[in-house]
Order: sequence, then C-alpha cells, then structure tokens
Amino acid sequence: MKNDKTEAPAGLSARGPEREAERGTERSPEPPRRATGRKAREQVIRGIPVSPGIAIGPAYDTTEVPAEAPRRGIDAAEVEAERQRLNDAVALSRKQLGKLRARLGVLPEEAQEELAPLLDAYVLMLGNSRLLRGARKRIESELLAAETAVGDEAEAIAALILANRDDDRAGLKRRADEVREIARRLTRNLTATPFRSLKGVPEGAILVAEELTPADAALLDPSRIAGVATDEGGADGHTAIMLRALGIPSVLGCAGLTESVVRGDQVVLDGGAGTVVLRPGEKALEKGREALAAFARERAKLAKLRRLPAVTTDGEEVELQANLEIPAELPLIAQAGAQGIGLLRTEFLFMNREDLPDEEAQTQAYAQVLEAMGSDPVTIRVLDWGGEKDMEALSQGIAPTHAGPNPALGLRGLRLLLKRPELLEAQFAAILRVAEKGNVRILLPLVTNPSEVKEAREIYERVAKRLKRKGVHLPERLPELGVMIETPGAALAADAIALEADFFAIGTNDLAMYTLAVDRAEAEVSHLYDPLHPAVLRLMQFAIEAALRLRMPVSVCGEMAGNPRLVPLLLGLGIRTLSMNASAIPRVKQMVRSLDIGDCARFARRVMEQSDPQRIHELVMGFGTGAEKA
Ligand code: PEP
Ligand code: MG
Repeated sequence: MKNDKTEAPAGLSARGPEREAERGTERSPEPPRRATGRKAREQVIRGIPVSPGIAIGPAYDTTEVPAEAPRRGIDAAEVEAERQRLNDAVALSRKQLGKLRARLGVLPEEAQEELAPLLDAYVLMLGNSRLLRGARKRIESELLAAETAVGDEAEAIAALILANRDDDRAGLKRRADEVREIARRLTRNLTATPFRSLKGVPEGAILVAEELTPADAALLDPSRIAGVATDEGGADGHTAIMLRALGIPSVLGCAGLTESVVRGDQVVLDGGAGTVVLRPGEKALEKGREALAAFARERAKLAKLRRLPAVTTDGEEVELQANLEIPAELPLIAQAGAQGIGLLRTEFLFMNREDLPDEEAQTQAYAQVLEAMGSDPVTIRVLDWGGEKDMEALSQGIAPTHAGPNPALGLRGLRLLLKRPELLEAQFAAILRVAEKGNVRILLPLVTNPSEVKEAREIYERVAKRLKRKGVHLPERLPELGVMIETPGAALAADAIALEADFFAIGTNDLAMYTLAVDRAEAEVSHLYDPLHPAVLRLMQFAIEAALRLRMPVSVCGEMAGNPRLVPLLLGLGIRTLSMNASAIPRVKQMVRSLDIGDCARFARRVMEQSDPQRIHELVMGFGTGAEKA
C-alpha cells in the first residue's frame, strides 16, 4: 500500500506551461493517516467541478482539528472578563486577517480581486458588526461564555440570512458562510485551537480536505499546489470562486473522499469533469497525462484567441460582450477580450446598504465603468429589483414596495421604477451626467407592454431637459433606450415594443422562467427549466425577427449566450451580438470562428421546425457531428 509520500510520483498540473514539479522533501509533522474504508485499488470519486484543469500528483490531506468549544455559561461577575476575552480574540483575528491581506500581493491579479473584498468583509464583521454587538449582548444578558455567545449569534444571523426569500440561494449561502467563517476564526482564537497549516504541503501535491474555507483558499500558493479536492462545498461558494480565480484545478463536494485516501496516494484530478481518481492504474494515469497535455494546449490556444476577431469563416462579424455584476470584474472583462459590456446589472449599487445610492454616488460608479471601457459600448440596465432581492433600502420602506404574494409576477423591474419614478429619474440622471465619457446605452428590465417603454422614455426626456437647464453638457443624441425581452408578453408584442425602443436585449434566463412557469432558482423543478424548449425559441425568433425587420440592434444576454454549443443556433436565428460572463468569451469566440453563417441559418431552420424539446436538444448538441443534417 502506498501510504508513504516518498513513493508517490511527482505532481503534475495543467496550469500554465506544462511542468513536472518535484515533490517537496520535507516531512509533515503529522503521520500519514490510514483512513477507514480505504481501498488500495483504483477508485473514482465524482464531485462538483469548480475549477477546470487536470492535476496529477500525490494526495496531501489537511483536515483541520475542530475547536473544542463546549457550550458554557458564566457567572455575572465574569461578564467583564468574558467581554475582554472576546475583544482580545477580535484583535487577534484582525491581525491575522491583516497578514492575509498583506500576502495578497503575491497572488495572481484575478485572485486578488476575488479575495480582497472578501477579506474586507471579514474585517468589517470584526468592527461594530451585528455579530459582535449580538455576541456581547448574549454574554451580558444570557451569561454565556464568549465562544458560546459568538457561535449562537452567528447561527442566528446565518438562519436569518438563509430565511430570506431571495432567489439567489447560492448568494445567501455565501453570506451565511461568511458569518460562520468569522465566528469560526473567533472561536479558534478564543479556545487557542491552531489553524490548519498549509505550510508543509509539498510542491505538486493535491490538497485533500473535508472542507476548505475561503480563508484557507487564500493561503494556497497556486504555483505549488497542483489541485484541490474536498468532501464538502459547492460550485457557487466563495471557496470555489477563489479556487477558480487562483486557477487551481479543483473538485469539491466529493462525498467519501477523505475516508478513501491516504496521504501520498497518487491522484488524477479533473477539475472540468469533476472526477478524482485515487490510486489510478496505468490506463487511468495515461488518460490523465493525455488530458493534462490537451488542457495545456487548449489553454494556450484560447489565450491566443484574445486578440483575434470573432468572425465566422465566411466573414460575418459577431460582437462578443460581457455581462458585469460588480465593477471588480472590469479587469476580467479586459482580459477576456470583450467588445464592451452588453449588460451592466446595476443591482450591486443598491445591495448591502440601508439607504438608497444618490445620484452622485451612482454617477461615480457609472463613470468608473465608462472610463475603464474607453470607447467600447456599455449597456447599463436600470435597477431590476425582483421584489425579493436583498436590497434593504427598498425593502425597509425608504422606497415602500410591496412584492405581493408572487414576487416574480409583482412589482419587479421597470414596474417598480415607474411606480417610484424618483428611482428611475436618479438613475437616468446619473447615467446622462457621464454619458459623454463613453459609449453608453440604457436598458429597461422586465417590460411587458409598449406603454411602459413610452412612459419610461417620457421620464428619460424630462430628466435630460432638466439637466440641460442646469447646464449639464449632454451628448447631442441622447444614449439609446433599449428593452429587455424577457417575458413572453414582451416577446409576442415585440413588433409593437420595437416601435418604442432603440434596441432589444433578449434575457433568456427570465424568458425561459416566465414561458415555462418554472422558477429559475427552484431545484425541485429545475429539470423543467429549459431555454431550448421550442416555446422559448419561438418567442425568441418572433422578437428577433421584429427587431431585424426594423434593422434594430438585438442581442442575447442571458446565460444561453455563453454556451458555445448554442452559438450556431443563435447566429442562425439572426443574432450577431452576444453578451455573457467574461470567462465564457474565449470558448464562444472559438466556436464563432469555426462557423459558417449559411450553415447556421440552415441549422436554425431545421431546429425551428421541431416541436419536441428532446429532439431539439439532440440536434443542438449534435451540431458539427453531422447529426443536424440527418
Ligand atoms: C435574463 O433574465 O436573462 C437576464 C439577463 O437578466 P437577469 O439574469 O439579470 O434577470
Ligand atoms: Mg432578467
């Protein structure tokens, strides 16, 4: 049995130039663990693919000793001392986070951008936060020891966050995890329990753990660690986001992994497929090596694509733009070679604050984006509050809103803005104030009726006049006002809406949800959520044709746009602008560059003749294999 790391072969990873790294020679302070249920033979464990890439190397397990913090009460006389203990733990935690932050400089830029805001959020929670206020109160009023008070308060806050009806469940879980993470740090410091040490991880090793916190991930050195695999964790957590940002091939959520592996076991990890092969046989090892080489080749090819145009083989240009959720993504957009921002979701401006961002604050935020994008187009979508999103200022009555019993069908998107026109006015004014700094367009969310667009345009023109009267210099032609086509109502009234709009952006995420009556975030019905359903495609086709008849620009900015396999169909339907998650751009570009528009148009006609969703899937997934011609 290979439980001695000296027997394991050298680690390999497909990140960056292919390289065979020497494993470190230092011995870990902990002896190799012989886990129960371990098999000596090859074993394949499937998990959640969170960061693509292939890694081959010896396993290095780093499961953390849990903090011993039994529930404990105190006497009234101990309250002051207990509060002091908590203060000391807070000070120590701040110091540790400060060190972590100082270390960020050595990480790749992408990782720094991911980590810095998270560490800042942790530090904020060590200030006058609800967590600490609540914990201090519990020490005093419930006579609890500091660690018990911190644990109880963190769980109470996490439960509150998770009870929120926001449809971004992954986002809620992330926020709850942030609170738990800082409580965990405080508890370890209060109980003097050592943190997991990642210092001894040999170069080229694959880190194996039950769970990895985002702070642990921040300590990983991507030039030393070949891959990461854990028992717990999901694709949308901060840890996953960071591993992606660090470019470390990773598979999380591998049930039973730590039970089955022993330090030094050879591992082949595929972060794209979500597989972890323990103790691979010669065949699996060979397959891993081939995948490793193929991944490195693919990476190099995609990197070269950055500077190449998105043009089909017959010379048709396609515009590939990025969707932006927070300004921190701006450098990624540049790296991906995006031709502008096709969808700037402005919800970030309204989140995590107790008041509304005023015109000035919004002006600054838009100016930052426009300046970064130079002359590239930027499409700013005005607030799309879903009635249940966590925007405290809106839900706490500063701008009274009522989501109604069915928030997705209630006062959402443009409906809210027309009901509270001061919100729309401030946003229009802020965009207009910076319009001369770049190439900006404005997009209206969740429209169903041409009269809504008309009303919004009246407000828009009124705001422009007011600004002009005040002496604000505006471009001669006001930025265009476009409409999201994301409800069946808008799609089927697209010909009428087109007369009121300057451009369309098809939001396939909501269009599929509203067409199929399937909540896009509801796991129980997710099998029915299908943007390739003929009903969705027919609505899209109707809207696209309405726009093209008027020679009006039309793009797709839902998740569909970032899936390379759907590109032939979208181009065939007449779309020439796609806006997507920046990281999807290279692969989509690669697909565009392999296509002929005539083929795409013929293919789309064939797909649109079908009414069976299953058949459409077969055709779309089979494109390029000849199956589409059968
Ligand atoms: C959509 O609905 O497809 C869309 C792009 O908007 P969002 O995902 O922000 O609702
Ligand atoms: Mg939408």
